[in-house]
Amino acid sequence: MDEQNGTTIAKVKEMIERSEDIVVLLGIGTVIESGGENIWSSRECYRIEEKYHKSPDEMMSVEYYSARRDKFFEFYKNEIISSCLTPAPLYKDLKRLQQSGKVRKFITQNYFDLEERAGLDDVIELHGNIKYNACPHCGKKFNVEYVRNAKGVPVCDECNSAIRPGILLFGEKILNGLMTEAVNACESADLILVLGTNMYDNMVKFCTGNYEGERLVLITKEEHYTDRYADFVIHDTVTNVLPKVITDDLPKITPKPKAKAESKPGKEKKEKQNKTVTVKK
Ligand SMILES: [Zn+2]
Repeated sequence: MDEQNGTTIAKVKEMIERSEDIVVLLGIGTVIESGGENIWSSRECYRIEEKYHKSPDEMMSVEYYSARRDKFFEFYKNEIISSCLTPAPLYKDLKRLQQSGKVRKFITQNYFDLEERAGLDDVIELHGNIKYNACPHCGKKFNVEYVRNAKGVPVCDECNSAIRPGILLFGEKILNGLMTEAVNACESADLILVLGTNMYDNMVKFCTGNYEGERLVLITKEEHYTDRYADFVIHDTVTNVLPKVITDDLPKITPKPKAKAESKPGKEKKEKQNKTVTVKK
C-alpha cells in the first residue's frame, strides 16, 4: 500500500464511522472482482468483434434484439449469462456496512444479480437484472436458467412468444422513476462510495450531479484522468480496500426515515460540484 493510499484509507475509515446516510454506487469493477468479464474492455471488444463481427454495443442493442433475435440470444447466452458469478468478498463488507444501519441505498448498473445473492437490500438496479425474464405477450416470468438452457431463442412455454431478458439494452432509457430515486438518494447522502468505476461513468455523473457534500469517495483499481472530481481516491481493488475502511465494530445506528429532501429550485451550486466531464479528443 503506498503512503497516499494509506493516509486516505485512514480518513475514509473515520468518515464511514461518523456517517449515517451512505449511498454506495457499484461499477463494473465489482463484477470483474467477482470473476466476470467487462465486455466493453478493449481486449474483450476485440475478441467479440473477431467472433461475431459486431461490437458489444451493437450485439446488445434493442435494434439487434428486434432484428436478429437468434444472433442476439447466441451472444447473450455465450457472453452474458454463460456462468453464474459468485459475489466477491467485497460484498460481505457491504453487507456489514448495511447491517450497521448506515446505508440508504445501493445503486448499481450491473445486472448479474450479485447484490441480491450477497444479501444486500435497498438496491436500485438501473439496468435491470438477468433474473427478470418475461414473456412480453402473456407476462409469464422465467428464471435465468430457463433462458440459458433454451435451444436457440427462448420462447414462452404458454404462448410461444420470444422471451425478453430483463436488462436494459442499448438504445433503451433507464426508467425515470429509478433514475430519480437514485439521484435523490445521492443528493441527500452524507457520504457516497463509488466502487469499481470512475467519475466518467454515466451512472456516476448522473447520480452524483446534485451532490453538494465533500465526502465522495472513489475506490477503484484503474487510475483515470477524472479521478480529481472525487473528494477522496483510493487506487486498489475494492476487495482489498473495504475491509480496511469498514471495520468490524462499526457503531450501529437506527436509520433515519428515508424521506427525500425537498427539491431546491434556484439553489446555487458550488463550482466544484459541477462534475460534468468533457472528453478532449
Ligand atoms: Zn407467453
